[in-house]
Amino acid sequence: MDFEEGDRVKVEKAGVEYEGIAMPSTTGHIIIKMVSGYNAGIDPEGATVTVVQKKQDMEASTKAAGKAEVEPKKGLPKVSILSTGGTIASKIDYRTGAVTSQFSADDILQAIPELTEIANFSGKAIYNILSENMKADYWQELAKAVVEEIKNGADGIIVAHGTDTMMYSAAALSFMIDTPVPIVFVGSQRSADRPSSDNAMNAICAAKVAVSDIAEVTVVMHSESSDDKCSIHRATKVRKMHTSRRDAFRSINSEPIGYVDYSTGEISTGLSYTKRNEKELSLMASLEPKCALVKFTPGSSSDILGYFIDAGYKGIVIEGTGLGHVSTDWIPQIERATSQKIPVIVTSQCLNGRICDRVYDTGRDILKAGAIEGEDMLPEVALVKMMWTLGQIQDYDDAVDILKQDIRCEINERSLE
Ligand code: GLU
Repeated sequence: MDFEEGDRVKVEKAGVEYEGIAMPSTTGHIIIKMVSGYNAGIDPEGATVTVVQKKQDMEASTKAAGKAEVEPKKGLPKVSILSTGGTIASKIDYRTGAVTSQFSADDILQAIPELTEIANFSGKAIYNILSENMKADYWQELAKAVVEEIKNGADGIIVAHGTDTMMYSAAALSFMIDTPVPIVFVGSQRSADRPSSDNAMNAICAAKVAVSDIAEVTVVMHSESSDDKCSIHRATKVRKMHTSRRDAFRSINSEPIGYVDYSTGEISTGLSYTKRNEKELSLMASLEPKCALVKFTPGSSSDILGYFIDAGYKGIVIEGTGLGHVSTDWIPQIERATSQKIPVIVTSQCLNGRICDRVYDTGRDILKAGAIEGEDMLPEVALVKMMWTLGQIQDYDDAVDILKQDIRCEINERSLE
């Protein structure tokens, strides 16, 4: 049949007519995205397809329609939106129903005009990837781009990011940058073509935080299943805790720094935080990517740990059980790692609570083997901290010293009950 992915097509079959954008298909069915946002799959047997508009023609007219640039408003702060991809950065053309990954600040402003009341925006697409494809190199490039924008006068930064690994990237930037302005990560769990999309509300709340006094790296996402407020999570204490809910992001072992009331735009804070211009801008971008996060499971072979030691890994984070345990036969491998000057941090699969390896014998033996208690750090944050610390410091004892210290509020003095 003579149509391409992205064309607007009309499909007729057995007296029923479907119109929409032709989507990729792996099943041999014709898949079209209809204006309602829903996809229809049609068996091509006996169907007739007519092209209503070619993809190229649609793109040209969309560009022409979107040319009217948003005029900067006097007196508003400057916010830079850096996009890395993910659902939030997909552009939905409501006229055609097409989902494209093209991105510019103007695209976002045209989709969410309320933003223009909050700040003057500029934007750059740094990447256009799903966040499962993020890696340490990309965090470094992103951190450099953020610093560049701040040097060029941005009063706040928004990083649009896929939600799956947003907490790793946010934690990485938190360790890498001393920031005088807010750096806000935002994503969306449901794309803009779905009636329950969280994309506009999250972006508006993120913009409010970007112009606020909270000069830290934060993650701003829906707080509850309703549209009442967004939580402002500290980058080193946040985790995605649900596959699909809009309130998937939760602060663990901490309250969020605060909330943005969606209807009034007001920010309320409960925790103390670093204020605007309290810190001077600096970038500590070196990272050691060869670090591993290893989950211990009952009966698992200590060869797993041995593999990372022999493969030249420079730091290991263990996700142990309960208070921070592994089976007795993993302990000699921990000792082997630390005697080779490979730091080992023990964190917990419980996520909530604090490591305490002083209670049970295995815990004491783990400490004797040289492991560091990860306190109340999230395992992913301990991994990113390990990469950052080993990127900054070569000496083993100095590195261990830093790993034990609280650098970016990743370790609380006392855990919540
Ligand atoms: N898995 C993708 C990502 O994290 C899409 C999901 C999303 O953006 O939330 O980038």
